[in-house]
Amino acid sequence: MGIWCVEECRVWSAADLGPAGLLAEVPYYPSRLPARDGQTHETVAEISVLLVHEQVFERYLVVDCARLINGERRQYLIDLTATQSTYGGLRWWFCCPKRPNGNVCGRRVAKLYLPPGAIYFGCRSCLGLAYECVHESKRQRAFRAVRKIRRRLGGADDLTEGFPAKPPRMHLATYTRLRDKAARALEWRSAPLRAQLKDALARYETGRREWLQKIQESL
Ligand SMILES: [Zn+2]
Repeated sequence: MGIWCVEECRVWSAADLGPAGLLAEVPYYPSRLPARDGQTHETVAEISVLLVHEQVFERYLVVDCARLINGERRQYLIDLTATQSTYGGLRWWFCCPKRPNGNVCGRRVAKLYLPPGAIYFGCRSCLGLAYECVHESKRQRAFRAVRKIRRRLGGADDLTEGFPAKPPRMHLATYTRLRDKAARALEWRSAPLRAQLKDALARYETGRREWLQKIQESL
C-alpha cells in the first residue's frame, strides 16, 4: 500500500493532450503548475511545462521544477508516444519519467500523478498509489462516501473518471441530491489540470499576438 491515494494526487490525463487537444493545436505551449503541500495546501514548488514538438510522432514535455523553500531546481523530460486510434487519428500516451532504481520507468501510461508536495510526476505503479487509503482522515472518509455514491449509480470507483450519468430508473431529484453530495465532498480538490492548461494556452496565444504586432509595428 502506498502513502498516497490517487485522489490526493494531481492527475494529468494524456486524453487532455489530444488528438483534438493541445498537442494537435499548437507546436509549443508553456504552462505553470503549482505543486502544493498535502497538509497545508501551500505552494511548495513551481512547475513549468513546455511541450516540444519534433516530428509527427516525436514530442516530449520539458518539466522544470523550482522548489520555493530551498530554491532547488530540477529539469526532466516526459516523452510522449502516439498510437493509431481505431477510429483514425492519434492517441497520445505519456512515458512515465520516474526513476525508481536509477532507471527510467518508461511505462506507457494514460495518466500521470503528482503526489502532494512532489515535483516528479509518476505512474501509479512507480508511486505505489492506492485506491484505498491506509490512513483514515476526514477527507478520506469523504472519498469513501463518494465511491459509495458512484457505485450506487453504477459508476467506476476511480474518482478521476467522469461522474456517472443518471441510471434510467432513478428519480432525477435523487440523482441530483447524490451528485451534489459527492461534489461537496470533493470540493477541496484543485481545479482540473485541463482548465489550467487551457488558461496557460490562452495567455500564451495573447502574448504571441502582442509580440507579432510589436514586430510588425517596428518594420
Ligand atoms: Zn512509472
